[in-house]
Amino acid sequence: DAFYRELPKVELHAHLNGSVSVNTIEKLISRKPHLNIEHGMTAIGKGQRRTLDECFQVFKVIHQLVDSEEDILMVATDVIREFAADGVKYLELRSTPREEKRTGLTKKGYIESVIKAIKNCKSEGLDIDVRFLVAIDRRNGTEVAMETVKLAEEFMQSTDGLVLGLDLSGDPTVGHGKDLLPALLRAKNCGLKLSLHLSEVPSQQEESNLLLSLPPDRIGHGTFLHPEMGGSQSLVDQVVTNNIPLELCLTSNVKGQTVPCYSKHHFQYWYQMGHPSIICTDDKGVFSTNLSQEYQLTATTFGLSHEAIWKLSQQAIDWIFAPDAVKQQLKQKWEAMKPQVF
Ligand code: 5GP
Repeated sequence: DAFYRELPKVELHAHLNGSVSVNTIEKLISRKPHLNIEHGMTAIGKGQRRTLDECFQVFKVIHQLVDSEEDILMVATDVIREFAADGVKYLELRSTPREEKRTGLTKKGYIESVIKAIKNCKSEGLDIDVRFLVAIDRRNGTEVAMETVKLAEEFMQSTDGLVLGLDLSGDPTVGHGKDLLPALLRAKNCGLKLSLHLSEVPSQQEESNLLLSLPPDRIGHGTFLHPEMGGSQSLVDQVVTNNIPLELCLTSNVKGQTVPCYSKHHFQYWYQMGHPSIICTDDKGVFSTNLSQEYQLTATTFGLSHEAIWKLSQQAIDWIFAPDAVKQQLKQKWEAMKPQVF
């Protein structure tokens, strides 16, 4: 539907290596034929489902394909171009810096390659403002988390606002938030914004409670925060009192089987409460989707009008991590693109 493609959009929850398209995967496979990787191993097609655990296996396969500065530069450039072509005007990409002895890749070089892609796309004149969040993979533990924060701090200072914050992600069943608290606190105190995956799987009330005390600036998923999903009213109250927006990824949650079907997605719970809810893709490559499709899915599943969808995409501007001047520019862009009928 053209309305959703033309709708100006803000994407705030996109993992770089989960966002790699079929086209780019093909280029990567031809660079590394010896790995014997096929398409079916890197994406979950229409109607298919995997467990969350199987989804994490998919990331491992993609990581084998993306393991040099050159790969990262290509992948990030392609991903940014694809988001721009889908009508995304502001994008916060996130990715976990990795090192790879074989190719000489360092964590610093990893981030530099993403920054280079962002700058190249800007000089190409693409109509998209791209920023970067450095991701902590929770399974790598306390020390790596602290090291990652220090790296993010350095880049925040040297990139003039391109690196804005931190993401906490990775297999939610591994490790505990309490071990990462010192690193997250340090990040917060030095001005890095925090977007944390929270209650993505059941029975994490204790950890969520702890992490909400920071508090984070945005929440990824938050699927099991509310009482109907086994969470609690006190968790909901903390989210509401601090007005912490939720990044919601419908296709990802249904295909990853943490949500049984679209109509039971927790978007409904938070949206009808009037709580800030942001539609995002999570991993557009792995889950074979794009942001236009996610907005359309939201509209058809929950009966939202074009006007309500417009408002939803506009309100996402309030929750970007870039400063107020950027928000004002985006608001003007939305105003200029607004259909006459609203
Ligand atoms: P990368 O950080 O390598 O660019 O993107 C892939 C990584 O993002 C995965 O290895 C994982 O750590 C994280 N990730 C992607 N999607 C999800 C998700 O749905 N849940 C969680 N917890 N982590 C994710």
